[in-house]
Amino acid sequence: MVRSRLLLFCLFTTLASAQTTTSKEVESVYSGAHAFYLELHQNPELSSHETQTAAKLAARLRSAGYDVTEHVGGTGVVALLKNGVGPTIMLRTELDALPVEEKTGLAYASKVHTKDDAGREVPVMHACGHDLHIASLLATAEIMARSKNTWHGTLMLIGQPAEETISGAKTMVADGLFTRFPKPDVGIALHVYNAQPAGKVAIVPGIYDANADSLRITIYGKSGHGSAPHTAIDPIVIAARTILALQTIPSREVKPGEMVVVTVGYIRAGTKNNIIPDEAEMGLTVRTYKAEVRKQVLAAIARITKAEAAAAGAPREPSIEPYEGTDSVYNDPALADRLKGTLEAALGKENVIVEGPHTGSEDYSVFVEQGIPSFYFSLGGADPQKFAEAKAAGTILPSNHSSLFAPDVDPALHTGIMAEVAVLRNLLNTTPEELRKLTVHRAAD
Ligand SMILES: [Zn+2]
Ligand SMILES: [Zn+2]
Repeated sequence: MVRSRLLLFCLFTTLASAQTTTSKEVESVYSGAHAFYLELHQNPELSSHETQTAAKLAARLRSAGYDVTEHVGGTGVVALLKNGVGPTIMLRTELDALPVEEKTGLAYASKVHTKDDAGREVPVMHACGHDLHIASLLATAEIMARSKNTWHGTLMLIGQPAEETISGAKTMVADGLFTRFPKPDVGIALHVYNAQPAGKVAIVPGIYDANADSLRITIYGKSGHGSAPHTAIDPIVIAARTILALQTIPSREVKPGEMVVVTVGYIRAGTKNNIIPDEAEMGLTVRTYKAEVRKQVLAAIARITKAEAAAAGAPREPSIEPYEGTDSVYNDPALADRLKGTLEAALGKENVIVEGPHTGSEDYSVFVEQGIPSFYFSLGGADPQKFAEAKAAGTILPSNHSSLFAPDVDPALHTGIMAEVAVLRNLLNTTPEELRKLTVHRAAD
């Protein structure tokens, strides 16, 4: 009887503290996290070259008590903290930065230059905010390690390389992320952006972002003198007609209201004004939300491209080469609904916003495809005052990947840590069976 009362008491205190992340807890790790952020921001590394970033994160997680494995799928880091029986919950951060020259004018702005994979000298900047995600994950890791009485199960933290080249998630999975380590019952990730002010988070139940397909199209013609078009077949004219015809896919072929973007981002052809070249190359990015729309659009691109070449009497069918594609990230709706309540309790109801899907893309979708029900949410990063001014003026703050992207670190990092701890504690007070019943895998759309 006494024992069961004691158990009941323990359960009650556990549940009570499981519901909240306190500011005091965040404060206890904040100065270290902030210093780590500044260090990462000033030392950004390009995709697949995140050796120092990964080593620093691994060392800090090790000293926080985690069982850390490095070099998973390249520079990937996996850190485990086992705390009794319960579900396995994964929290992911990206590690990489971008070839962008920082122009924020901040005292801690990056001055780093390096050689890219093609041997070109490029500037490097954490222009997507992955440095903030890493710092937030570390602080969250420290809080979770110090409060093992508030949760049970296995916490799995991963530092993923090469998100910006949409390759790191794949290489980690191929290197045994879910076979050498426990397969998570649920996966979590966040991304900072400027579409909301710091202090707020935004959630998107269901489809979070877009399917992305990159295509390299080569149109073949027949070269000749610029003064004698009748002796040639001009691939530039074919390309021009093709580019315009491709825009009829979103406007004429796909049902109005479905999201489709077909962008021809570059066209390369010819060397001189009086030569008709042999071929023309163009690069496309294609974004969609639904699988059936994606299929329809890719088929239409192939059909139109081939037919325009045939109409011009091209000597060969164009080549259409897909590269760097990824599926949209899917947020389990029931999980999003549950964690919305958790975030509201931790941050205040007014600080949790529900949004529609984004047109960007990212390779977290690889983990979802591996059967990990997930919750991927957005973290407001804009300076609240600048955000209000921009809104009033009808302007937009610099987005991720801009040389001017500068999250308002103090409120954003604080909120990121609060949110992550709250979400992890909530999930690490369930059972794998409960999570299985709650979540559904993405319906075949
Ligand atoms: Zn990015
Ligand atoms: Zn990013």
